[in-house]
Amino acid sequence: MRPPDEARAIIDRHLIRLPSEPVPLGNAMFRVLAEDLIAPEDHPPFPASTMDGYAVSSDDHSPWREVIGEQNAGHVLDLEVTDGYTVKIMTGAPVPRGANAVVPVEATEMAEDHVVIHKEDVRAGENIRPIGSDVRKGELVLSKGTILGPAEIGLVANLGVNPVTVTRRPKVSVLSTGDELVEPGDTLGPGQIRDSNRFSLCAALVAEGCEITFAGQAPDERPSLETFLRERIATDDVVITSGGVSMGELDLIKAILFDSPEINVHFRRLYLKPGKPLNFATSGNALIFGLPGNPVSSLVTFEVLIRPALRQMVGARDVDRPIVPVVLEHDVEASDRVEYQRGIVSVAADGRLIARNTGKQQSSRLASFMGANSILMIPPRESTYGAGETVMAMMLGAPFAVS
Ligand code: AMP
Ligand code: MG
Repeated sequence: MRPPDEARAIIDRHLIRLPSEPVPLGNAMFRVLAEDLIAPEDHPPFPASTMDGYAVSSDDHSPWREVIGEQNAGHVLDLEVTDGYTVKIMTGAPVPRGANAVVPVEATEMAEDHVVIHKEDVRAGENIRPIGSDVRKGELVLSKGTILGPAEIGLVANLGVNPVTVTRRPKVSVLSTGDELVEPGDTLGPGQIRDSNRFSLCAALVAEGCEITFAGQAPDERPSLETFLRERIATDDVVITSGGVSMGELDLIKAILFDSPEINVHFRRLYLKPGKPLNFATSGNALIFGLPGNPVSSLVTFEVLIRPALRQMVGARDVDRPIVPVVLEHDVEASDRVEYQRGIVSVAADGRLIARNTGKQQSSRLASFMGANSILMIPPRESTYGAGETVMAMMLGAPFAVS
């Protein structure tokens, strides 16, 4: 049985970095930048006003100025501010020659054709963004591995990089296996349950920016499972199955992975609760994850092993969730394996992070994810963890990506 860290190290050794591709900026949201982006020019490229007001010279102390023009954003008028004169200016507009400060309109008053400046000590540079004050030419603005979220993609646009080079999205297929599975929406027969894993796993994959090449469901029949695996391995980066990896006779995924000469199995069990019967195999560059069928087990193992693998494949700089110490709010029974419970971490009045679990933690109870913002990592031991003891919690953030 592999502890999660060891399992991750094995997966890391077998994954490959996906190639990069140029993509129009409008399609690059939440993709991973595959190049360092250096500013080709200063931004702003001209001294720009940060206020609506009047462009003045700070050396001119007279309270009265004659307005010689109006400078809006987006086009440059040939105007020069000299003593006794001013130019009306808008936010973001280039500051005219001769001016070195902008007096906000609130600090002025119109008197016939003159402006009265109600501000005594106008400082040089006041309310002006100098050339290059946001981004300096030659500066490393975004480094390789950055996920292009809202601010980042705005910066890419600001640099004028379009198309932008990003890593190819991982191609991933998902198959739910089991004779008991029916489609949500179909009537349940005796002994049947609805396939939920496929939808959970696809949602988790979409949140990681993957391209889902196939998502389906198959009964416990060897030929169709073999065909599925053979076909998907040929085209996908990652193949995920759920179910069929326990000790039963119809746990065929485990058997097929083991028996196929073109597939190498690297481990078959995890030292983790939930998620013990997890098979990891490869075939060429394709990673194959045979996840346990229980809905919580499959999602927790996705989180712990598949998500970091996908992030490394796309070269994302942020691979790991933040892990923080938390104080237990209630007793937690320990297990003989590392146990990952769904948790709710909050901030106590004294500023410490405190955590409680989401109630019953059995691996079939998908509702144990409801309200969870974390996974409480409970090390194995004989005695119960008492309220007030500290454990580590993996914080689950909002998903970063949509496809
Ligand atoms: P297995 O790993 O095939 O032994 O399945 C373990 C448990 O998970 C059984 O109770 C299955 O019915 C259930 N299960 C398997 N696949 C799914 C699925 N796709 N959606 C929901 N539950 C499942
Ligand atoms: Mg099964």
